[in-house]
Amino acid sequence: MNIPFLDLKAQYRTIRNEINPAIQEVLDNTAYVLGKSVAEFEKSFAEMHNAKHCIGLSSGTAGNHVALWALGIGPGDEVIMPANTFIATAWGATLCGATPVFVDCEPESYNIDPEKTELAITDKTKAIVAVHLYGQPADMDRLREIAERHDIPLVEDAAQAHAAEYKKQKAGSLSTVSSFSFYPGKNLGAFGEAGAVLTNDDDLAEKCRKIRDHGAEQKYYHVMQGHNYRMEGIQGAVLGVKLKYLEKWTRERKRAAATYKTFLKDVDDIVLPREMEYADHVFHLFVIRVKEKTPGKPNGERDALRNYLTEKGIATGLHYPVPLHLQKVFEPLGYKEGDLPNAETLARECLSLPIYPELTDDKIEYVCSTIRDYFYK
Ligand SMILES: *Cc1c(COP(=O)(O)O)cnc(C)c1O
Repeated sequence: MNIPFLDLKAQYRTIRNEINPAIQEVLDNTAYVLGKSVAEFEKSFAEMHNAKHCIGLSSGTAGNHVALWALGIGPGDEVIMPANTFIATAWGATLCGATPVFVDCEPESYNIDPEKTELAITDKTKAIVAVHLYGQPADMDRLREIAERHDIPLVEDAAQAHAAEYKKQKAGSLSTVSSFSFYPGKNLGAFGEAGAVLTNDDDLAEKCRKIRDHGAEQKYYHVMQGHNYRMEGIQGAVLGVKLKYLEKWTRERKRAAATYKTFLKDVDDIVLPREMEYADHVFHLFVIRVKEKTPGKPNGERDALRNYLTEKGIATGLHYPVPLHLQKVFEPLGYKEGDLPNAETLARECLSLPIYPELTDDKIEYVCSTIRDYFYK
């Protein structure tokens, strides 16, 4: 059996009768950049989050950048964030000229550790970025309490957490400003690059809107430094249609995750994802850990299992093989191995199994029995 890591075709087939006319309408109106389809999507996405403002952007990376830029973050400032995340979280800070400060994750949720976050605060800290990794919200109450006590804005990178909830509130509605990615493989994916930011702050929203469109108040009248970070009309149309299915697709992801957990629960050599009591995890990724035989000593067990699964037709991923503090690009910041042990262990042990709404239980069973074969045969 061949099981891809992700199957975008399966999803497209179920909605092509709705998506194609929506795209056609954009073509007929030649509204290629921003326009009605983007405005309508922004309105729906804001409503879903009880947010006052949604600003549609050209990517999640743009969202990370715009959020910190609008907060006024610049050279000399420090931005605290987890080390175990996708590189784009860090670009938000570095594109502003600021310095990322990497913090270790909690060993069970894999999200930024609030206590270690507080220890990393200095008088240069100008923002804390929480990432809802793999689709599970970070411990936002504890982070918010710390951020408020130090009078530092809290920002969410919700690129992996569409429709996830923290204590019944949507991820992306739990901070001063949040950013989303609609990259095709995300839980809500465009047909190309797209992203957005959400905020309840009128002033911040106004800045974000200007930044995405060359710092212009009106066309050719530029009142601040900006960029071209506008969302395309076709992406707005696609996202508008797909947003209606997000709840259903999220349920299917949770079903798939539950099936994995059932069939893998007694495999001692792996650690299953832990769902925290405050979180409604939407499983952008289903990440297991393949335990190291000697903790701290890479023994290749994870890579051997990965190779075995590949041979059996099962595609897997690594999210992420190198934590940000050990990336070559951040060498000048002076971090070394051992600085952030939980993030480093996760990098050595993590293995992402296929997950998408259309992944059937019999395919999941096959993945799980193949994993069992590897350990017990
Ligand atoms: C995907 C992702 C981004 C970047 O989004 P793009 O739309 O690909 O630019 C940022 N942060 C995290 C955590 C992501 O997973």
